[in-house]
Amino acid sequence: MPASQSDPILDLPPLKEVIATHGLSARKGLGQNFLLDLNLTRKIARQAGDSLATGTTVEIGPGPGGLTRALLLEGAARVVAIEKDTRAVVALESLVDAAQGRLEVIEADALKVDPLQLGPPPHRIVANLPYNVGTRLLLGWLETPEKWESFTLMFQREVADRLTADVGSKDYGRLSILTTWLTEARRVMDLPPAAFTPPPKVSSAVVRIVPRPGPLHPAPRKTLERVTEAAFGQRRKMLRQSLKGFGDAQAICAAAGVDPTARPETLPVEVFCALARTVAAFETA
Ligand code: SAM
Repeated sequence: MPASQSDPILDLPPLKEVIATHGLSARKGLGQNFLLDLNLTRKIARQAGDSLATGTTVEIGPGPGGLTRALLLEGAARVVAIEKDTRAVVALESLVDAAQGRLEVIEADALKVDPLQLGPPPHRIVANLPYNVGTRLLLGWLETPEKWESFTLMFQREVADRLTADVGSKDYGRLSILTTWLTEARRVMDLPPAAFTPPPKVSSAVVRIVPRPGPLHPAPRKTLERVTEAAFGQRRKMLRQSLKGFGDAQAICAAAGVDPTARPETLPVEVFCALARTVAAFETA
C-alpha cells in the first residue's frame, strides 16, 4: 500500500541536502547519475506494479536513495539495496531508520552478489543501473530467468533499444534475441539527460522485463549464444559465410530449413533456435 502523509520517509531532508552533507559528488567511474525528483522516481517504482508488496525488491546502486525512497513509499515490503560506494551507504543510514525494518543496505559489488539469496521470493529488481555494468548484470540474472518475477531497469537508450528491438530493425541483434527468447521486454519510460544530476551525455529509458514461463522455442542456450555471436559478429555477411566456424554452413542451413544467403537481422528468434538445435546436433554427431 502506498505511504500515508505521515510516513517518516517524507520527513527526511531533500536528496540535494543528503548529497551535500555526505560529500556525495558524482563519480563517473561508478556511473553515478542521480535522480533527485521524487515524483519521477515514484513513477519508475510504480512501473514495477502492485507486486512490490510481496517478497523482495532488490535495488542495485541506490546512491543517495531517490529510487529507494520511492520504492518504500510505493509500498515495497522489503527492499535490499546493493551499493559499492561507501559514501552512499553511510548517506542511506537515515533512510534505513525511517524505513522501520523494510530496508537493508549491503555494501558490495553487485557483480559479485547473488540477489536471489537476499530475501524471500518473489524476487524482482528495480534499478537505475550503473551504465558501465548494466548489460552484464542483466545477462547474469537471466542465467536463471525462471527464478525472477520481473526487472524494471533504467538503461542508456541505445541498450534499451537493443533489448526491445524487433526483427528487421537496426538495433536487432544478440541482445534482442536472448531477451525475446527468455522474456517479454517493453520500453516503458524515456528520460532525457536533464532528468539526472549530473546529466549524462546520452538519453535513458526504463525497460520492464518479465521472464516467460519458459523459452519461446526449444534451443540449447550456450549454442544459441554462440550462433548469434557468429551471425551478428559479421552482420553484413550471409549465414553461409558467418556460420563457417561450425562446419559445413550450407549443410547446417539446409538441415535447419534456413536460406543460407539470408542476413542475420532478417531472421526471427525461431530461426536462430532452429540453427542452434542443428549446430548442437552436428557437433554431437
Ligand atoms: N539509484 C540512484 C538514483 O537513481 O539516483 C543512483 C543511480 S546511479 C546511475 C548508479 C549507482 O550504482 C551509483 O550509486 C553507483 O555508486 C552504484 N554502482 C556502480 N557500480 C556498482 C556496482 N558494481 N555494484 C553496486 N553498485 C554500483
